[in-house]
Amino acid sequence: MVVSSQNRRETGPHIESLGVARGARPALNEPLWALLKMDLKGSISAMAVVLKVEDLNVTVGGKTILQGVNLALEEGQVHALMGPNGSGKSTLAFALAGHPDYQIQRGKILLAGEDITHLPPDERAKKGLLLAFQYPPEIEGVKLREFMRLACGDQGHGFCEFRELFPRAVERLALGDLAERELNVGFSGGEKKRAELMQAWLLRPKVAILDEPDSGVDVDAVRIIASAIQELADWGTAVLIVTHYPRILEHVPPARVFVLQEGRIAQEGGPELARAIELEGFRAVGK
Ligand code: ADP
Ligand code: MG
Repeated sequence: MVVSSQNRRETGPHIESLGVARGARPALNEPLWALLKMDLKGSISAMAVVLKVEDLNVTVGGKTILQGVNLALEEGQVHALMGPNGSGKSTLAFALAGHPDYQIQRGKILLAGEDITHLPPDERAKKGLLLAFQYPPEIEGVKLREFMRLACGDQGHGFCEFRELFPRAVERLALGDLAERELNVGFSGGEKKRAELMQAWLLRPKVAILDEPDSGVDVDAVRIIASAIQELADWGTAVLIVTHYPRILEHVPPARVFVLQEGRIAQEGGPELARAIELEGFRAVGK
């Protein structure tokens, strides 16, 4: 379900017609590109941090769930947020998206350097933050196609562009005639997950937080979802896959893995951390 999206990005199918390869850098010469990647201290950053979370404390229903969470997501990279059930993964996803029940007591959220900690969800969405829900709601009376046409319009896509891109998104996520049905109404678990991801694929946000994109999804659909996620990252989106189960990460290996336990980041590492969790469970954390 779209809680967000971003300003149009000049990569991917939007400009394929101009002969520019998917995921290609802008047509800048190398020295200029390097300059753009210099941070203020003058050092060259390997990748731009798009979403930065600093010392986040979040309460829900008066209870503190997240304590001192720090996180950085980089442009064009896949990241994973893992952790056992109830560790606070969805709480973090909702707090980042601006759900009013998830109250930020301390800390900051920076999107492309801008402080969005206290912005309402729609403004975060317009600035390029997308949340795909763990449990996508059913919205009667709104067809998936119509919903996406309005969302794309809000992001500055013209009707002609939408008419061209929408069928490609539907095909990419194998949604078939679901596009003409009411949003998520009667969709199977796997269909809902593919519909969520289709929205990210079409809107191409700066940051996509995908809450359990593979739960309830069969093995063939996991491959479709994983390859669409990889494509999104190749186009420049900073992706955060939230999952308690490493299966999807075999298909779309994360550059960085964060493990949440009891509301705190207990460990951070590379793809080997996901593999260790796969083999040993969350006992592997802290070793
Ligand atoms: P995860 O996604 O890691 O399984 P959640 O973020 O959904 O974990 O939940 C973390 C904790 O916060 C759980 O104890 C859960 O019961 C609690 N929680 C989440 N949302 C609410 C809410 N709206 N009201 C009360 N407690 C909540
Ligand atoms: Mg959850």
